[in-house]
Amino acid sequence: MKLFCYHTPNGPMLGVCKGDQVFSLYDDHGWAENIGLLHKFGDRLAVADKPVASPRPAIPATVKSKILCVGVNYAEHAAEGKTAPPEFPNFFVRYLSSLVADGENIILPKVSAKLDFEAEMVIVVGKGGRYIPRDKALDHVLGYTTGMDGSVRDYQKRTSQFTLGKNFDRSGALGPYIISHDSVPPGAKGLNVQSKVNGALMQDGNTAEMIFDSAAIVSAASEAMTLQPGDIIFTGTPSGVGFARKPPVFLKDGDIVEVAVEGIGTLKNRVKAEGKLE
Ligand code: MG
Repeated sequence: MKLFCYHTPNGPMLGVCKGDQVFSLYDDHGWAENIGLLHKFGDRLAVADKPVASPRPAIPATVKSKILCVGVNYAEHAAEGKTAPPEFPNFFVRYLSSLVADGENIILPKVSAKLDFEAEMVIVVGKGGRYIPRDKALDHVLGYTTGMDGSVRDYQKRTSQFTLGKNFDRSGALGPYIISHDSVPPGAKGLNVQSKVNGALMQDGNTAEMIFDSAAIVSAASEAMTLQPGDIIFTGTPSGVGFARKPPVFLKDGDIVEVAVEGIGTLKNRVKAEGKLE
């Protein structure tokens, strides 16, 4: 099942893709409940007869979604950042305000010239829970989407906390598709994860290289907090990010950033300098 998140006057809505058309759910119960119903009933859930006219991509999350991220989850990325591989998933959070939808502009803030790209496979929680054992963790996943964990490196490295560097307004991106868990290998393992800047390949990894796999990440997060339908977990980025390249590559006004996760989708955004007119 392929889901597409689009704008409505009442906020984001998930539709079911059939061919190149998107069909809204027959009954809209609200974001988290829709996610729960899709997780429970899959493509047996009733959808409208007519496709949505010209759906515009929206971020597949709401302000109620917890947006967790796992840092340093690929050994080669740990090495390029001169960081020891972690012994427990290195969780941090992003706020919704730090993300844009597919096709929207990412903002290069005026206080930094070190906006970097990170291609990531992203988990969408379908069924909530606390203390979820690892062998049951994938039962809680609705599906997987595509993320760009945009990072303002100088602010990220200015302190031991990632919070500011990972939460500049509109510095990352998420979506547009959620591919249900049964349409990809278990845990979305073995999928290529790539980023391109202006068409040039920058990152070329595979989710099989993740230090903590999807089940381990979901289980570990649920040790601390009750996961809810619609929560989002970025799973980390492979090597090849801009700051570690020689010479470094940071995003500039007008750059086109693409993140592709095999079988899940491509997320494409343009970089716009803050305050610059279209
Ligand atoms: Mg990341």
